[in-house]
Amino acid sequence: MKYKKTDAYAAVVIACLIAVAWGLFRWGAPREAALDKTALTGSEAAAGLSEPPSPTPANRKVAYLTFDDGPSARTQELLEILRSRGVCATFFVVGRNAEVYPDALRQMTKDGDVVGVHSWTHDYSYIYASTKNFLSDFLRLRDFIEETTGVAPTVYRFPGGTNNTVSLSYNENHIMKSLVPLVENMGFRYYDWNVSAGETWSNPPSKEKVVESVVSQCREKKTAVILFHDTGNQGYVDAVPEIISRLSALGFTFDTLSSDSPSASRAAMFQFAPS
Ligand SMILES: [Zn+2]
Repeated sequence: MKYKKTDAYAAVVIACLIAVAWGLFRWGAPREAALDKTALTGSEAAAGLSEPPSPTPANRKVAYLTFDDGPSARTQELLEILRSRGVCATFFVVGRNAEVYPDALRQMTKDGDVVGVHSWTHDYSYIYASTKNFLSDFLRLRDFIEETTGVAPTVYRFPGGTNNTVSLSYNENHIMKSLVPLVENMGFRYYDWNVSAGETWSNPPSKEKVVESVVSQCREKKTAVILFHDTGNQGYVDAVPEIISRLSALGFTFDTLSSDSPSASRAAMFQFAPS
């Protein structure tokens, strides 16, 4: 009897174990299905909820506002516009004007703007006539900027750009071919531009046209080097606030040109192919 009772207990235990196992199996089956389903929808959800890609050098959009030929009577107004929007710019100045407005150069440096070398005379017939003339003009302005601001300039813009053909009018030997390495060997980096505000055309466009032109030229670019002229007698200053707003809305950040700007960007924006 005692023996039979043990058998009965064993049978009950085994039955319980089978029941539990079956239950676990039944519970597990839909759960696996659910997990599979969750995995599917989970991955889809993950795709939808994933963080947007953080900015990288590859997808960063940078605009460089550059102002040539100043300073002028409107430079101070321009600097106030830049400060009010937290934007710094690069000024490729002309020595004859810098002599008249030396405080503008000091203010630029104090504010974080970059003062670059453009030309002392901006006289093509003089600077492109010979390497000697070019160097004399270049070094005079380089030294003036350093003495006035306390900062040695490191960036340069050729009057007319490196692709200029005007130099051929004054020197038939493609003087640009020797001037480019000359500037680089002095530790400077030169910058052309790939967007032009066009505000010094003989028939100057309206402020609205300057804004639309600059924004449309920048739209498909990741690196925009925008050429303005700080000559004071055109309407570009009025266009600058809206250009900053519109480019910001397109995802651009603003930076200044320097001797260590990314070489990839530099290569993309530079074209030196004198014909
Ligand atoms: Zn110029």
